[in-house]
Amino acid sequence: MPVLDILTAPHPTLEKRARDVEADEFGDELVQRVSDMAETMYAAPGVGLAAPQVNDPRRVLVLDPGEKEERGRRFFAMANPKIVEHSQDTIDWNETCLSVPEFEIELRRWRRVKVAWQDCKDGSPRESWFEDYEAVIVQHELDHLDGTVLLDKASRFKRSWYLRRVSKLKKRERVTA
Ligand SMILES: [Zn+2]
Repeated sequence: MPVLDILTAPHPTLEKRARDVEADEFGDELVQRVSDMAETMYAAPGVGLAAPQVNDPRRVLVLDPGEKEERGRRFFAMANPKIVEHSQDTIDWNETCLSVPEFEIELRRWRRVKVAWQDCKDGSPRESWFEDYEAVIVQHELDHLDGTVLLDKASRFKRSWYLRRVSKLKKRERVTA
């Protein structure tokens, strides 16, 4: 199973709204895809990964909030996930993103979210509540499926500062490569 390349911002796939997984796409191929995404997430290491981050424009995500020996105990692979219910109270969390290296921003999220999704193997419906840290991860990954990265939530100043820095680094890479 290959570890996939993770796109970094700015990139057009990260900015597009992902499309629904269609009925004929469920099955072994999609299961293999989420398995590769999981391997990529664990290797990074990260706690969540959305398909657009590996240049796949579909509404698919994986997440696992566990650390070290807890890895794998709370693993989820979701197709066409959406929040169907949420608490009124919120939680503030410092978020980072594999697609926006060396960037951190505090965001306000729902503290509890109920998510409905489809199983990647057969498309059957699933539903579960996620709380606190797990709820933050789900909302972060759902943002990716809507073409939103952390940068889009930052002030215009902070965003342009980051993008300037990235373009400078990329130029330097071209020179040294
Ligand atoms: Zn992210």
